[in-house]
Amino acid sequence: MLNPTEPLVIKSVAELSRWSDEARSLGRRVALVPTMGALHEGHLSLVRVGYRHANRVIVSIFVNPTQFGPAEDFARYPRDLSKDVELLRKVGTEVVFAPTVEEMYPAGDSTWVDVERLTGNLCGRSRPGHFRGVTTVVARLFNAARPHVAVFGEKDYQQLAVVRRMARDLAFGIEVIGGSIVREPDGLAMSSRNAFLSPRARAQATALHAALHEARSLVRGGMRDAAALCAAARQRIEKEPLAEIDYVELVDAETLEPQREVRAPAVLALAVRFEGTRLIDNTLLSGETV
Ligand code: AMP
Repeated sequence: MLNPTEPLVIKSVAELSRWSDEARSLGRRVALVPTMGALHEGHLSLVRVGYRHANRVIVSIFVNPTQFGPAEDFARYPRDLSKDVELLRKVGTEVVFAPTVEEMYPAGDSTWVDVERLTGNLCGRSRPGHFRGVTTVVARLFNAARPHVAVFGEKDYQQLAVVRRMARDLAFGIEVIGGSIVREPDGLAMSSRNAFLSPRARAQATALHAALHEARSLVRGGMRDAAALCAAARQRIEKEPLAEIDYVELVDAETLEPQREVRAPAVLALAVRFEGTRLIDNTLLSGETV
């Protein structure tokens, strides 16, 4: 059931755990949707997925410093808590967890959570330390919010796979659910970072989706060579003068190991910079396509 009332904004870990324990003791199922705020329809779709699997939804809003590299956009990352709370009110969130950095990283802390192997390629290669920051904060959020389920977007496919592996390996007892990628009408995957794009870059950024779309057609037409497939996707993106490709890779959907031949389930994933703004997108090649 959606709850149209104002979400409760909680800032402390202890209060969040109390709230969740009480909900659980009343027999409610609790879902957690971790975000960094600057919410858009992609985030809101994850809240709706949460309500399909639970009857109480917690959305965390925390721009996590440990997942940003020193030269990345932590300081200028967009932040607008009151606008986010208003959007969440409309989709019916019970709790918004918006901690400070000190609350999430108590003074003197010295514990990291690091998932190996799955974090070695794709975004892990170009953003060293990024996933260690993600898994560390998500582990803390899991312990603070104590949800039955947690929802992550397929847009950050590697993040979803890494968090799923962490939840399994550390026996969190939390089901990690993926939500489909929500796109703008022209195909660009929604992202808080799209706001950084100049009009020229924004127009050229549709090449990511176009390249994935073309690649799917090539696979449907029988192409099985991963290198040829990635080369075709690169060619499409390189038509855009502002595009600087970080990677285009075909990997196994579960292990994220690079594939030479297209074998389902596989993921074609890419990351491209436009005037310094790094965008990612991917498509799952499942049994129907391959
Ligand atoms: P972020 O606020 O960028 O850290 O994203 C929070 C969550 O929303 C992550 O699980 C993302 O994968 C997910 N997400 C971001 N953009 C989209 C999108 N366009 N469609 C679906 N999920 C998304």
